[in-house]
Amino acid sequence: MRLIMLGPPGAGKGTQGGMLARALEVPHIATGDIFRQAVREETELGRRAKSYLEQGELVPDEIVVGIVLERLQKPDCGKGFILDGFPRTVQQAEALEEFLQKEGKALTGVILLDVDPEVLVERLTGRRVCRQCGATYHVRNMPPREEGRCDECGGELYQREDDREETVRHRLDVHERQTRPLRDYYEKQDLLHVFDAAQPIEDVFAAIMEQLGRGR
Ligand code: ADP
Ligand code: ADP
Ligand code: ZN
Repeated sequence: MRLIMLGPPGAGKGTQGGMLARALEVPHIATGDIFRQAVREETELGRRAKSYLEQGELVPDEIVVGIVLERLQKPDCGKGFILDGFPRTVQQAEALEEFLQKEGKALTGVILLDVDPEVLVERLTGRRVCRQCGATYHVRNMPPREEGRCDECGGELYQREDDREETVRHRLDVHERQTRPLRDYYEKQDLLHVFDAAQPIEDVFAAIMEQLGRGR
């Protein structure tokens, strides 16, 4: 299965992407996670990406595309992958398409998580992430068993710098301008599947699995 998770910040791409990756046994490749790790480790990539992340702007296509295509060539992607947060521009989508074509592969589908903006602000400002393993929580919708601690690994939970309200609103704006056009792009290729992401996490997951023919 080669899937793309599409949708605005906060729609649940990371949450559903992680669940799908476990269920389908394919890697979950989240470009935001790759960049945040690079910033943390102060690598060359981290230095180039840092200011874009802080401001809620997109990292330039030429940087992002190289990173993702390199990742997709790793052996664990042989069985497929779940891309989360990529592509975010038509140019990125075209680069991916060209790469897959050369490899003689095609996308299985694009999962669009659709939900209205007011819900998104609440989700993003309440989001907490594990510093150690990247697991995602929400202060109200999905609290950890012990406050401030990850259920999975006991790591410390923190709020992403770009999940403060001002940056959140800007990111939603950037999404409207730069990423929304991808809906048409994939719709035209008959790859787009739209899900109501305002439903509870388990219900969204069940709907996606059903669509993939893996329903219970
Ligand atoms: P994205 O990767 O699209 O930015 P996340 O998966 O990180 O979104 O989810 C954003 C926040 O909303 C997280 O705090 C997550 O726990 C919460 N969340 C995700 N899906 C749902 C849902 N269906 N209902 C309520 N809260 C959700
Ligand atoms: P969210 O899950 O809230 O949508 P991400 O974790 O996917 O956020 O992305 C965080 C930040 O990383 C983005 O605001 C952007 O700066 C950068 N980023 C991630 N993926 C891409 C991409 N495909 N193209 C450009 N920038 C990206
Ligand atoms: Zn953890």
